[in-house]
Amino acid sequence: MLPFLSSIVLLAGLDVVVIDPGHGGRQPGAVAPDGTQEKGICLAVSLRLARLLKEKTKARVLLTRRSDRTLSLQQRAEMANRLKAQVFVSIHANSSTRPTARGVETYFLSSRATDRRARLLAARENFELIESKDESQTDDVIQAILTDADKGAMLEASSRLAHLVQHRLIGRVGGEDRSVRQAPFAVLVRAGSAAILVELGFVSHPEERKQLLDPKHQEALAEAMADAIIAYGAGETPKSP
Ligand SMILES: [Zn+2]
Repeated sequence: MLPFLSSIVLLAGLDVVVIDPGHGGRQPGAVAPDGTQEKGICLAVSLRLARLLKEKTKARVLLTRRSDRTLSLQQRAEMANRLKAQVFVSIHANSSTRPTARGVETYFLSSRATDRRARLLAARENFELIESKDESQTDDVIQAILTDADKGAMLEASSRLAHLVQHRLIGRVGGEDRSVRQAPFAVLVRAGSAAILVELGFVSHPEERKQLLDPKHQEALAEAMADAIIAYGAGETPKSP
């Protein structure tokens, strides 16, 4: 078991938001055929999102990293726990061996994956996050998630946030709606907060990769997520998917 898996108390309001740019430093995340690395896109969009939330709300907005540095899963989780955030958003970009795969999807933590693809994605992100080639350690992390993942209030809040973010992203930037999904992401294990992981598009898709690297598109993605987080804090309920 991991020491940061404390009991879950759901925190209301929007006083503290933690934004977690995926990967960084020695972890590039997904790497496109042209060498584009996921970690840079994660950081660029996260910095924009943090700036917008600071402009639009009174919330304390913190990033798990502000530069290209390596962070362990434990460091990310400990930071989020210490700060008692109501909202934890991990920002990622997707990749696929299928060059036509594209679109936006948003995950919230669950002990069960929506399907095989969600399971594979979670396995990949978890594996990188814990920086381990030791499969038994991966199993420990997953087991810890499974134990704590069934906290109803946290799941409900995370699901509400995930749907608001997904709807706002699709409404704002269009593209293929790959919908809200559930998967056991290690980084989403958080005490008390609504926690989601957003996959903003595919670096493996040539057109989407160009978009993800475009500052205008990055800003639009950040604006959509900021609006969704503000709506979440105001208690908005998403229209049914
Ligand atoms: Zn990632």
